[in-house]
Amino acid sequence: MAKEYSNLIGGEMITNGAWMDVLNPATEEVIGKVPACGKDELDRAVAAAREAFKSWRKTSSDERAKVAQGIAAAIKENADELFRLLTAEQGKPHAQAQQEIYGAAGLAAAQSTLTLDDVINQDDDERLSRTRRVPVGVVGGIVPWNFPIMMAIQKIVPALISGCTIVLKPSPFTPLTTLRIAELIKDVAPAGTVNIITGEDSLGPLITEHEDIHKITFTGSTATGKKIMEGASRDLKRITLELGGNDASIVLPDADVEKVAEQLFWSTFSNAGQICVAAKRIYIHEDIYDDLSKAIAEYAKNVVVGDGSEQGTGVGPIQNKKQYDRVLELIQDAKDNGYKFLLGGDTDLSGTGYFVPLTILDNPPEDARIVAEEQFGPVMPLMKFSSEDEVIERANNSEYGLAGAVWTKDTDKGVAIAEQLETGTVWVNEFLHLSPFAPFGGHKQSGFGAEYGIDGLKEFTYPQVITVKRDAVV
Ligand code: NAD
Repeated sequence: MAKEYSNLIGGEMITNGAWMDVLNPATEEVIGKVPACGKDELDRAVAAAREAFKSWRKTSSDERAKVAQGIAAAIKENADELFRLLTAEQGKPHAQAQQEIYGAAGLAAAQSTLTLDDVINQDDDERLSRTRRVPVGVVGGIVPWNFPIMMAIQKIVPALISGCTIVLKPSPFTPLTTLRIAELIKDVAPAGTVNIITGEDSLGPLITEHEDIHKITFTGSTATGKKIMEGASRDLKRITLELGGNDASIVLPDADVEKVAEQLFWSTFSNAGQICVAAKRIYIHEDIYDDLSKAIAEYAKNVVVGDGSEQGTGVGPIQNKKQYDRVLELIQDAKDNGYKFLLGGDTDLSGTGYFVPLTILDNPPEDARIVAEEQFGPVMPLMKFSSEDEVIERANNSEYGLAGAVWTKDTDKGVAIAEQLETGTVWVNEFLHLSPFAPFGGHKQSGFGAEYGIDGLKEFTYPQVITVKRDAVV
């Protein structure tokens, strides 16, 4: 029988007798069972978080940093077990699962060094005015299935560092590694400061609308983000929304074709394309389009799509059936419209597991669904451009504004183009790099607010200004 995992509520690992199955997307086998929670368990978790907040809000930054470092250590010490479990439930190859687990531990350790210091607004004979950052209270964290551990840690740790307590809900598709981490940190984080409960999507709105939750930090699709904004409006909860993206990569004619081909490949196909900041539209200057598109397709032919637990696999399966069907639908649409494929394009797939062959399209039109929509799968549309102004306009012609990249030997020109892109992050000559100390967030329908860095921490607090009138007669 599949292993049963417990939730963390008020410092205890609990189950409630109702279960949800979790599948391995490479084998479609049930590999674990997690509690299917509803309003009762949520109320318990929120009550525990409220109680814990009373004392946690008064802790020093040193005490908070120690807990964050303890979380980092617990993840690192158990990394071997955790990355294997992550591959089993999420699908990503072992090496990428390792990166996520060590990355999450590194993020927790790095963020433990952040503090929100008071700011003096005025200090003279007349008045002392000081701004302090006050933790908002109980935070509701909701995360998706593509980077379940990174996303969980990037919500739990800043919540704790800023003095809040949290109730976190993993995606129903990928809760296992998160619950294993819950078990590992049970005695690291004081009881009630971190609560992790699992449930179907229907648990999400209960969190958004809970009257004792004061902030929602959400990562997921734009469609769900809109529902969260609506739900949170009832009591004007603070919200941070990290949503979808349709990131453009722009390759200028001076780029080194062979080197860029490999980089571009992984900027699209890492995690089987299921990355909010994956390169989803590749614009290549017409002078190098033929050479570069050929080099990318050649590179792709040597990358193995398969079970992430097997040695040699470069790209794993799509994480779940719903997303698998959506990616195949987009590929089918491209076929139906007669767009040209350099690689892949097969939608008549059989066998076990949600595997989609690597798919590269040759110059589809800008309004093709596979270009205009977020694919979130192993799909790479390559498009030709001739002038910088034209490509900037095409890159910005999207409802999303998450990230983008420019590839060129002329970094000044790269930066000049980057500054014209309407996105929260732009990389010049690299991709997917996020710093624990720099804000990460989107523009337009990619969401608002920030995670990471001081800007990210501030989102868990509100500013309180205290002024003391010095020359008053009382
Ligand atoms: P999703 O929106 O379907 O689900 C995300 C989470 O929201 C899950 O835990 C789900 O159970 C929960 N949920 C579902 N309905 C809800 C509701 N009505 N109210 C509250 N919660 C609800 O997203 P997904 O399919 O899991 O993830 C893929 C999407 O996430 C992609 O669009 C991707 O771009 C985006 N994403 C964004 C970032 C970022 O930082 N901007 C990072 C990773 C993924």
